[in-house]
Amino acid sequence: MQEIVDAILAEQYDAIGGLAVPGTYRGVVVRADEVDMFQGIPSREKDPRKSLHLDEVSTPELGPGEAIVAVMASAINYNTVWTSIFEPLPTFGFLKRYGRLSPMAKRHDLPYHVVGSDLAGVVLRTGPGVNAWKPGDRVVAHCLSVELESPDGHGDTMMDPQQRIWGFETNFGGLAELALVKSNQLMPMPDHLTWEEAASPGLVNSTAYRQLVSRNGADMKQGDTVLVWGASGGLGSYATQFALNGGATPVCIVSSPEKAEICRSMGAELIIDRSAEGYRFWSDEQTQDPSEWKRFGARIRELTGGDDPDIVFEHPGRETFGASVYVARKGGTIVTCASTSGYEHVFDNRYLWMNLKRIVGSHFANYRESWEANKLVAKGMIHPTVSKVYPLAETGQAALDVHTNSHQGKVGVLCLAPKEGLGVVDHEKRAKHADAINRFRGA
Ligand code: NAP
Repeated sequence: MQEIVDAILAEQYDAIGGLAVPGTYRGVVVRADEVDMFQGIPSREKDPRKSLHLDEVSTPELGPGEAIVAVMASAINYNTVWTSIFEPLPTFGFLKRYGRLSPMAKRHDLPYHVVGSDLAGVVLRTGPGVNAWKPGDRVVAHCLSVELESPDGHGDTMMDPQQRIWGFETNFGGLAELALVKSNQLMPMPDHLTWEEAASPGLVNSTAYRQLVSRNGADMKQGDTVLVWGASGGLGSYATQFALNGGATPVCIVSSPEKAEICRSMGAELIIDRSAEGYRFWSDEQTQDPSEWKRFGARIRELTGGDDPDIVFEHPGRETFGASVYVARKGGTIVTCASTSGYEHVFDNRYLWMNLKRIVGSHFANYRESWEANKLVAKGMIHPTVSKVYPLAETGQAALDVHTNSHQGKVGVLCLAPKEGLGVVDHEKRAKHADAINRFRGA
């Protein structure tokens, strides 16, 4: 492995193809024999540091249309938190189901799951039939794994019946020294970014792009008012950027003055600190308080000069969904990709139908949307929001930060990269965007 790292650090990319692929590598795993370890413990107290292990695992056989990547850096996504606390289900069920698909898919069905759905690194080997990529290419990977054998997925690759999220519903993910991906997941690494910066947007940037910008999501247009929950978090920090970048006005919801400052540094002006305002949308476990929805809506109008949100960018789920449906403007869109606080949403349907609002479900992004979202990062129009970076051995702590919502933006993880700040190729472009990059990283 050291030879590979040395060649990458020396920027001898042409030499990579001549180096042997190690038979084993270190990867962050959950173990099948530990899925019951947190039984009886409340979700919030389940500690990813106990369930995520850095193990030496075998390098998988390389199949047609695939690539093995030397991973320089990766990032924490909420899906790794879900995997690490075995909620809502242990991910081994996903691997088992995938394994039934074909002998090659069977490789993924193992008693350990190497997690992680983002990477920045260098292609080590490509399998038969891969022509667009070669060893030595500097890449990032999006996390859409599809088979494309059914016509259902031919118009929008997210519609493939065998659609999976790599590193969550498949094995050999990015929180590791090596990763196995389908070559169609690969995209050029933005050349003005460091490894840890390049690794951090992938999943959330693509998701926010489809959810907010794409015709498949809310189809945001110039002049729209966009309410963004968790606006300094993983998804939200990209939704905020897309809104600002696309001529819309984000109304950023956050839970602390520090998080409000991050939104301000991205250029947002309308910010609500939900903790300071003390909204209690639920008066008890079963009952919502519409007067709190109204108070929230009035605050939004106060900030916007009277406009209600054209789009509500939803992901907290149960706790906020009733309020989200209420505050959207007449004819507005509530676009949701998650239910962090609970997936059984309750809202007053009168506000939806009488006001001709739409609820749109959105999930990750198709091949094209992922490519377009990455292109915006490469052009320096969208910036990474990685705020803290951990070594691979401390991935459990990194996941705990996200689980306890004590992070900001994205939390990065160094895999083969020995330290932060490496990997920039286009220094001139970086200098041009340095101010924004530093601000968005909270530096
Ligand atoms: P994140 O980095 O933790 O950010 C989420 C933010 O939402 C938090 O920082 C928090 O911000 C806010 N939030 C959390 N709970 C809330 C609540 N009860 N009420 C109001 N705001 C709340 O996570 P993320 O990466 O953005 O992911 C968010 C969710 O989306 C997760 O459930 C994840 O699994 C899901 N997701 C889905 C997809 C998909 O393709 N379907 C893709 C990515 C993520 P404040 O505390 O500042 O308000």
